[in-house]
Amino acid sequence: MEPFVRNNQSYLAIESWKDQFPGLVAGITTKSGGVSKGNFETLNLGFHVGDEVNDVCVNRKEVARQLDFSLNHWVGAEQIHDIVLKKVGQEDRGKGSDSYDQSFKGTDGFYTNEDGVLLTLCYADCVPLFFIAPKSRMIGTAHAGWKGSVGQIARRMVVSWEDEGIEAKDIHVVIGPSICENCYIVDNRVVKLIENILEDVDRKPYNLVSDGQFSLDLRELNRMLLIAAGVPERQIMVSGFCTSCDRELFFSYRRDQGRTGRMLSFIGWKELSNHS
Ligand SMILES: [Zn+2]
Repeated sequence: MEPFVRNNQSYLAIESWKDQFPGLVAGITTKSGGVSKGNFETLNLGFHVGDEVNDVCVNRKEVARQLDFSLNHWVGAEQIHDIVLKKVGQEDRGKGSDSYDQSFKGTDGFYTNEDGVLLTLCYADCVPLFFIAPKSRMIGTAHAGWKGSVGQIARRMVVSWEDEGIEAKDIHVVIGPSICENCYIVDNRVVKLIENILEDVDRKPYNLVSDGQFSLDLRELNRMLLIAAGVPERQIMVSGFCTSCDRELFFSYRRDQGRTGRMLSFIGWKELSNHS
């Protein structure tokens, strides 16, 4: 079943989690409904891609309004395709929400168990991972391109939560819209790195398509790594949306040859006063 439902022009929500976990806001934006121009038409939410900062702020305020989650309660990161995660809380709110300078440096994932903090990350093809451990109200999100996937940022989140006393068997994960295996071709170098981290698997997440060229299913790679880290298979849902195939809906770094905007993944608990 597709976890993401578009019932709004500007974002897709993780519909089953919304029903299962009252007060949770989680999903990813589309490229529509903003004011950005040119390569960034129209809902670019990334500050670092050369768009007008003012337009990005207008776009962000519009998304904040639609989600009913105040922009000064967001946190954002300067993402570097590494595997550093930050635990954040209400004291961090607003960092990276309306300027890139204030964002968390060198950070590719966030988690929190506090209400009223919206964790956000930017994407154009990389895999957005969404995590929740319902009993402890811990939530998280991580950005996994091939480097983050091979670096096992997915496992890093599970291990970080285990350090907080959360068992892997209590973690649910949604793997979000990202580039599909048909659109994502990598070379030997990447495949070698994947071979090093996947042991005893029946099916590989890549296929040889021509000499030294492989199609890679990044979503499946992350699913396999999460299962290896102890997350029950039945608690992992995978989106079928491809950011490159679906040009009406998403920005795609590969398809648009690097000149493109960014979607925003988001997950947060609304403050009790907001949903009581
Ligand atoms: Zn595709």
